[in-house]
Amino acid sequence: MCLNKPVKIRQILEEKEENTLSRYAQKSRLTRGRLKEEEECDIRPCFQHDRDRIIHSKAFRRLKHKTQVFLAPQGDHYRTRLTHTLEVAQIARTIAKALALNEDLVEAISLGHDLGHTPFGHAGEEVLNAIYPSGFRHNEQSLRVVDVLERDGSGLNLTMEVRDGILRHSKGRGEIVVRDGEERPLTREAEVVRVSDIIAYLSHDIDDAIRGQVISPKDIPDDCVRFFGPTHSKRIDTMVRGVIFESLRDGELSISISEELEYYMKKLRDFLYERVYEAPLVHDVFLKCYKIIEDLYTYFLKNPARFLEEAGLEDFYDERERCIVDFIAGMTDRYAFKLYEKIFLPLPWRIPF
Ligand code: MG
Repeated sequence: MCLNKPVKIRQILEEKEENTLSRYAQKSRLTRGRLKEEEECDIRPCFQHDRDRIIHSKAFRRLKHKTQVFLAPQGDHYRTRLTHTLEVAQIARTIAKALALNEDLVEAISLGHDLGHTPFGHAGEEVLNAIYPSGFRHNEQSLRVVDVLERDGSGLNLTMEVRDGILRHSKGRGEIVVRDGEERPLTREAEVVRVSDIIAYLSHDIDDAIRGQVISPKDIPDDCVRFFGPTHSKRIDTMVRGVIFESLRDGELSISISEELEYYMKKLRDFLYERVYEAPLVHDVFLKCYKIIEDLYTYFLKNPARFLEEAGLEDFYDERERCIVDFIAGMTDRYAFKLYEKIFLPLPWRIPF
């Protein structure tokens, strides 16, 4: 490579993808394009560029102070939405690399998948969904963050493949691997992220629930411990290997898991719902969070001038309810607490010097 002459580094990297990735991988050069056409970067293929845009976004930095399961935890070792996101990206890259899929694409989707999460985890999502007339789902909000809200309303202008993966990552208690239908994403890379998200939370939420003394290790069903192994790293290793080897089995590279692995992943998920997410100790805290979000929403609807002031807006950029939902969904846990305190709680009197 002669450094005196301008070289087309992006094209060289794109060619490298063509030569090294599986025929089932999504190549950067074959992207379906961006929402708005723009000149592509000369040193980065498009998915690598998307990954960088997500990392530099404000919504990404806010993930640090958003709940994963335990509300604004004081301990330094609990997961937050940010560390969850990083664990998903790391698991997805391991699987993608083993299957010769596009690592940049899985990384971009992973890092963007939870950008639309509300404060207080799924409790925030539930209450916004109940009070906002058009409904609220965090995966749709993640797409709205990257398409519309970031960069003061102009969005990140990501590629279709990253946007599709972000929108279709969500599953709640649905199937672990989508085999058909509308929910199935455009790329195998997006399918990898979807299963990696589940692998990440199935393992780290168990770990955090033990740390938070909501469960003890002996509460985990014996057959699950035997199948996955007793530690966080063993659980991830079992699931990651299960996805890689089953996906390679028929030579067609379809992202899949064995019936046995699916049975145990669902069993572990049911255990988490019953003993952690819906446990009174955890759930009672979230009932209080419902009130914070509902009160803020109702207050801002009745006081539009105050809303504009707090949101730092000169005017509504969309219908009122939509703007208020965007603002609340974007809050970190601690921001929502502080704002609630500022609006609803009397503060000790101070002489204004
Ligand atoms: Mg997630």
